[in-house]
Amino acid sequence: MKHILLNYINGEWIESKSSSFLDVINPSDGSLLSVVPAGSADDVALAAEKAHQAYQSWREIPATQRVQYLFKMKLVLEKNAEEIATICTKECGKTFLESKAEILRAVENIEVACGIPKLLQSEFSEDITKGIDEFVIRQPLGTGACITPFNFPVMIAFWFMPYAIACGNTYIVKPSEKVPGTMTRIFELLEELNLPPGVLNMVHGGKETVDAILQNPKISAISFVGSTRVAKYIYQTGVSNGKRIQAQGGAKNPVVVMPDADPDTTVKIITDSAFGCAGQRCLAASLVIMVGEAGKTFTEKIVAAAGAKKTGDGLVEGVEMGPVITRESMARINGLIQGGLDDGAHLLLDGRNIKVPGLESGNFIGPTILGNVSQESEIYNTEVFGPVLCIVNTETLDDSIELINRSRFGNSACIFTRSGAAARKFRHDALAGNVGINIGIAAPMAFFPFSGWKESFFGDLHGQSNHAVEFYTQTKVVIERWHDEWSRKF
Ligand code: NAD
Repeated sequence: MKHILLNYINGEWIESKSSSFLDVINPSDGSLLSVVPAGSADDVALAAEKAHQAYQSWREIPATQRVQYLFKMKLVLEKNAEEIATICTKECGKTFLESKAEILRAVENIEVACGIPKLLQSEFSEDITKGIDEFVIRQPLGTGACITPFNFPVMIAFWFMPYAIACGNTYIVKPSEKVPGTMTRIFELLEELNLPPGVLNMVHGGKETVDAILQNPKISAISFVGSTRVAKYIYQTGVSNGKRIQAQGGAKNPVVVMPDADPDTTVKIITDSAFGCAGQRCLAASLVIMVGEAGKTFTEKIVAAAGAKKTGDGLVEGVEMGPVITRESMARINGLIQGGLDDGAHLLLDGRNIKVPGLESGNFIGPTILGNVSQESEIYNTEVFGPVLCIVNTETLDDSIELINRSRFGNSACIFTRSGAAARKFRHDALAGNVGINIGIAAPMAFFPFSGWKESFFGDLHGQSNHAVEFYTQTKVVIERWHDEWSRKF
């Protein structure tokens, strides 16, 4: 029997009003995991109404008491990490260890949000003129929502949700329709928190659900993470509807290798960055820029390390790389590889058509590396979001930075070098929101904002840390007059 996923609204599991449904498929073996509602504006209207009602009393609870729920939330995730990781791997294909790592990242965000009593503190000036004080207070916005992508079914909602509710907002999570079971299970587990009904809600679906969120007048702020095309649409539509929006988009992350880089760590880190999560990470290295003689030292070693990676079902021990998310994605990636070759790239490692015994219906592509990639080629300019690494060569660090700065994306840029001067120049000049020095995935810890520039981000305040707190609060400036005779004599 098909397992139809339910929405979670006002503390109850409710059937969607949607009349159409989508299959949720295990990308490793093609099996049906569940069925998710395609989306309905009625579901969003109900969730927003209930969340808005719950907001009236939730905002009155002191922050010191609201965070007590977050302490429990952290424990629930930790206690159930194995089960959540198993579901996550079945739905999105990454390895079990990768799934566990993203749960850890979610937990780190809850921990930071637990500091909300301190994070909400503000400024106070006594006697701006005699007997008058002025100060800022931070208040919640109302109801917020996040719309998340498939590649981190656990972590990404936690870049926003714990901060939003800790600040006194109520919240709606809209998981990716490709991986909706993971967040559904998390919501089941979170019932143990006994949050007041309506504080935390979940609505399933795709575009129709998203459009209803963008239009609902009871939703004040939206956090989005996904492809650039949709991020731009969310930003433009949300802002024109008067909402506060932060929209993180796609990426094409370059890694510069200087000739003096440490050979062993550089090769290991770059291959892990490019092929971890089958390249389906917004911070995955997808373009290596070899400077000067670096190409001679590093290219062969990177190809050998990538070729040794074991591809298969992420639940099987020893597997280092899982499948890509869908058949369509697999076909698209294979098409981009072929396009790159047609444009003159050299095929250094070919992962197309790999077979994983017993998993013939899985969406597997092995690590693939193209050398001498044309800058005019689609594969050079597009986010591939698969296990494909392109390599180009330049003469100088300046040339490399110029290439990076020409890109329309700006999620991350990394450099591998032993030279402090080169690293410092790179850090200063590279136009990217997250920069790594001898780091492959420049993913900020929860107590830093998840930056992102150019077409990798639309908005002003990012996810995580104090940015999330600022995003989910509005400042009120208060000026108070207390005459001398009222305030100093009693
Ligand atoms: P996606 O844009 O297809 O979907 C993301 C969300 O948007 C989903 O919840 C989906 O239901 C919704 N959506 C899809 N099409 C829509 C439309 N036309 N109108 C309204 N809503 C729509 O992204 P994806 O394939 O799930 O995820 C991969 C993308 O996410 C990659 O581009 C990756 O770089 C990006 N990503 C970015 C970051 C970051 O921090 N910048 C992090 C993770 C993933």
